[in-house]
Amino acid sequence: THAKEPPKIHRLEESVVNRIAAGEVIQRPVSAVKELVENSLDASSTSINVVVKDGGLKLIQVSDDGHGISYEDLPILCERHTTSKLSVFEDLQSIKSMGFRGEALASMTYVAHVTVTTITNGQLHGYRVSYKDGVMESEPKPCAAVKGTQMMIENLFYNMTARRKTLQNSADDYAKIVDLICRFGVHHTNVSFSCRKHGATRADVHTVATPSRLDAIRSIYGVSVARDLMEVTALDDDQSGSVFKMHGYISNSNYSAKKITMVLFINDRLVDCTSLKRAIEVVYAATLPRASKPFIYMSIVLPPEHVDINIHPTKREVSLLNQETIIEKIQMAVESNLRNTNSARTFHTQT
Ligand code: ADP
Ligand code: MG
Repeated sequence: THAKEPPKIHRLEESVVNRIAAGEVIQRPVSAVKELVENSLDASSTSINVVVKDGGLKLIQVSDDGHGISYEDLPILCERHTTSKLSVFEDLQSIKSMGFRGEALASMTYVAHVTVTTITNGQLHGYRVSYKDGVMESEPKPCAAVKGTQMMIENLFYNMTARRKTLQNSADDYAKIVDLICRFGVHHTNVSFSCRKHGATRADVHTVATPSRLDAIRSIYGVSVARDLMEVTALDDDQSGSVFKMHGYISNSNYSAKKITMVLFINDRLVDCTSLKRAIEVVYAATLPRASKPFIYMSIVLPPEHVDINIHPTKREVSLLNQETIIEKIQMAVESNLRNTNSARTFHTQT
């Protein structure tokens, strides 16, 4: 028999490439909200308000009071790989902003309809402009605006039938969005956040700026969580000087929950670190007789060159240099805190 002729290789159209890439950056409504809120934080906002309709599929609106976007930048705002945050690759080593890839807004325009309203300092009016597939749909129109930027993402995944279907059938993404805003609220205590459903008069999360982390946790997660927390810290003490610092609040033996809550920030980035989470769960299970799942808020600060933030487009997982050592130190700190309160409690009940 004849060998079959190989299929012809051709170049994909750019619009196809962009839509595929966009689906990776914006996996579901909550990923769009995360990117938008991080942009607002990068713009030095002190107030960030989120409105969501239909779990984010119909509408996601994020308004901030940050520095806004210059009129001159609007034409390239939503092109792929346009950013005000990174210039050369080496900047990645020291970058303080959440964003740097210049992909989030572009991605949203490939899978949704994006409208931006923005005003910069000292201007009498703002501008409003809509984008599709990376480009402006028409010239920016002057409009009334309050300080900052409002991003409107409509009909997310309108052109990705499979994605839209699975999201419609899955549980509402709204809960995930509320959870995300709670996490940001606990860490960024100098910013006030709110999140509500479109048309609702009450917000489902509403934080006010406060100097106290514990107050922030209390207002977001409730008194019953905050009263059972203790402070935990760890410092690297090797001869090379302090390489990492950890500060956090962790639940004590009175706290009881069915599943773990782990709010983790590394160098002010909201991230996941599965191995650290597991390691802490192990300590709780071994130290507390009545195995309850803990509540953990933890902020870790490392020299920027010890954290690789560029391992995934969503920047959700990061990889750390000397991860095992860091995890071990944190485990020790958590364990000694738990043992202390546990014995104090035992002692207390005996007297
Ligand atoms: P990145 O955040 O990686 O730079 P984005 O696509 O998220 O890429 O945003 C592109 C650029 O748009 C940012 O670098 C920033 O200059 C500007 N921008 C986006 N959102 C805001 C905002 N809320 N306020 C001010 N500028 C913004
Ligand atoms: Mg960004």
